[in-house]
Order: sequence, then C-alpha cells, then structure tokens
Amino acid sequence: MKYTGLTYRPPYEADSLLLQVTTGCSHNQCAFCTMYRDVSFEMESFEQIETDLQEAARYVPDMDRVFLENGDPFCLSADRLAEIAEMIHKYLPKVNTIAMYASIRNIKGKTDEELKRLRNLGINELNIGVESGLDETLLRMNKCFTADEALCELSRLKEAGIDYGANIILGAGGAGKQEENAVATAKLLNATKPYLLFTGTTHPAEGCPLYEDLKTGKFVENTFGEYLDEEEILFSNLDLEGCFYFGLHPSNVLRTQGWLNRDRERILEEIAHRRDQLHSVLDRRPVRYGEGAIIFR
Ligand code: SF4
Repeated sequence: MKYTGLTYRPPYEADSLLLQVTTGCSHNQCAFCTMYRDVSFEMESFEQIETDLQEAARYVPDMDRVFLENGDPFCLSADRLAEIAEMIHKYLPKVNTIAMYASIRNIKGKTDEELKRLRNLGINELNIGVESGLDETLLRMNKCFTADEALCELSRLKEAGIDYGANIILGAGGAGKQEENAVATAKLLNATKPYLLFTGTTHPAEGCPLYEDLKTGKFVENTFGEYLDEEEILFSNLDLEGCFYFGLHPSNVLRTQGWLNRDRERILEEIAHRRDQLHSVLDRRPVRYGEGAIIFR
C-alpha cells in the first residue's frame, strides 16, 4: 500500500483498510492544524489506487470497511469518488462502508443528486471537523464556513442519507467564551445529529497561526476549570439520541466515552467528579506533550 508522509485516521478506524486517494489537505489553512503543512495536495492516480486494492484483496479479502486518506478526500469530484468506490467494490466485495475525512466546503461542492449517488455506492460516516457552532470561533480557526453554512450542508448530507461524525474542539473560543461556544456548538450538533461525537481540546503545534497567537497572548487558553465548565455546558445542552461519544483523546481534561443520551447524566457526574479531583489546579492552564496530551499537575 502506498502512503505519503504521515497518515492520519480517527481512532475508531483502526480496523479499516486505509486507502490513499489524495495526499495533503485541499484547505490546509485551519489555524490550529499542522498535519499537512509540509505535504502538497495531490490526487492519487487510479493506477496506484488499483494496485493498492489488488494488494488488499490478496491480504484482507474479507475487509468490510475502507477509510480513504488523507486530509479531506471528499473534496474529490463526485465522479472521481464514484469511480474509486466502484473499484473498491470490485476488489473487496464485502465492503459496506467507505468513510473518510470531509469538510463543510467539500459538501457544498456537490449537488444533492451527487450526494445520493455516493451514498448508494457505500460512502458514509464522514468524519467532519466542525470544531464549533459559534461564528466567531469558526472565523478565528479559519474554517472558512459559518455555523449557518455548516447547518445547511450537514442537513443536505443527512437528507442524502450520509451520516457524519463531528469533531469538536473544546475551548476553541478561548478563555471567557466557554458558555457561548458550548451553547452554540450544542445547538448546531442537535440540529444536525451526528452519529458520533469526538472531542479534543485546543493544542496547536508549533508552526500554525494559533500557536503564535497562544505565544503572544492573542489567544488565551481555558484553564482546567474552564474546560470542565465548557464540557459541562455542552453536555447539559446536547440532545443526541443514539450518538456515540468518544472523548478519550489525551488532550481532554476528562477522558470518557458513552452513548448519548443514555450516558449523559453519568458523563455530567464524571465532569463534577473530575472538578473535585483537580480542585487544586482548576485555575491553571494545561501543560502538554505529544498530541496535546495533558500533564496533570
Ligand atoms: S484540520 Fe483538517 S481541514 Fe483543517 S487544515 Fe487540518 S487537515 Fe485540513
């Protein structure tokens, strides 16, 4: 299998076949992201994709799920994605889901009919960096879409039968914006009903604009207490029946997971318990190491 540079995938795609169909990210400008800063965006050739699928067919012929790489393969035209999906089904006939990272802008570039056609070819469970439901935060993070645009495009996706997993960055609004950010984010999520919710906290790596803003004080990160407050407000406002919450990323102040709405009260209790555990450091800001993992002290 061919992979160019570092290859990223969500933790819950660990058992999926990772198939490179692009390199880099077509946007590559989110303020907090350095994932593809050194990799230019390119489409993988059909010849290489077919060679990779032939190899996969030899080693994992019963594979039932494929995750397309890299940063936002949903930016490809509907025709190209359809051709890739057909090739996948030819070599791996048991595949029922073709997932990938996608952006709001990628959806905007496709008609309703194209979205339905892609769904019929098994494309589903897109992983989307929504990050926040607050325009001010989206602008600061340079996502290049507004909350209204996200609502519109995610609704079109749902109408086409394509489920989406939401990535949310707790604290993306910065200190002082916890309530506003959490309430607006819950409102957007409730209206668009992701099948999966993933949270992390702000942990910009060196080399991106948010890292510079953090260093110069233009962006002030939440304290431990503020992160827990924001998470509490978010969960108090969420109504996502049947959605799986994955909150185990090491950048989270509370690492937990569960099914919504079933486990919402339990998660709220865990947040309160975490606040008690961290009572002596609630006013401190996190110190982190790789992947934003928090050092608790
Ligand atoms: S967060 Fe995603 S969409 Fe934004 S630059 Fe990074 S890879 Fe691209």
